Amino acid sequence: MARRGPAAAPLPVSYAPDSGRFRALLLTGTAHCGSTLLGRMLAMHSRAICLGEVLRMGDAIERGFACSCGEALGACPFWSRYAELFRSYATDWRRYDLAFLDAFARGEERDLIVDLSKTRVWRSRRAWKRGEAARLVGFVFQLRDSRGVMAAAKRAGHDVAHAAERHAKWVKRLDRFADKERARTFRTSYEALCADPEGRIRELMNWLELDFEPRQLEPSDRVHHLVHASASSYLAGSNEIRRDERWRTELDPAEIALIERQMERVPILRTLYLDPSAPEYVYRD
Ligand SMILES: [Zn+2]
Repeated sequence: MARRGPAAAPLPVSYAPDSGRFRALLLTGTAHCGSTLLGRMLAMHSRAICLGEVLRMGDAIERGFACSCGEALGACPFWSRYAELFRSYATDWRRYDLAFLDAFARGEERDLIVDLSKTRVWRSRRAWKRGEAARLVGFVFQLRDSRGVMAAAKRAGHDVAHAAERHAKWVKRLDRFADKERARTFRTSYEALCADPEGRIRELMNWLELDFEPRQLEPSDRVHHLVHASASSYLAGSNEIRRDERWRTELDPAEIALIERQMERVPILRTLYLDPSAPEYVYRD
């Protein structure tokens, strides 16, 4: 008869990935900052998966948004596998924590979970300071020229004056957050990513302590299951990565002047986009 040993003690919970320095990478930024492009490039990595804006799953369901694979969220085979997980969190982003993100890492056998919930990452920041999350959750802060963001907002039917003020306010707030969390935040911009996709992604992967994989430059070669993904048709379905500069023709001079007045009030926007003498000025290419 086999002897029974003492009951095994429960294993300490560890969310540590097998490779790379983080279990989760959360993107901060504003709507229309080009996060979907970056998320899809990260998701091409063999050890990573991108969920889109998983903190907006509840809103996406309520508003009838489809998964980026084209299926309804309730019918998508990827999300259907996690129905029980969402039920246990009552699809409430205020309850999401490292264990929630870790469930996808284990389910998909990946090391890194990428989320693009932007302002909601900031709103839920307390969850990312608690326990293991303080060490195993990293951030990427992606900026984009307010004029490009406003052209997208205008296209979506928003009031440019209101949206410009809101954008400046959020950039200021997220810039402060990135500063406070600088040890675990990677700063980038949509323009820098488009100017040199390989160079920028290599830098980011290096920071994440994961190897760069060439297929990361072909983000359209896989069906992604992103929540609340960009509905932009700009280069959709193409692997071409080119800076969207439509604001130059879609905004009128009065709108540009109004947006630039807001940008002047935010040092990082002024330095990156309005001051050609600043070393970080992005249009020097
Ligand atoms: Zn899907």
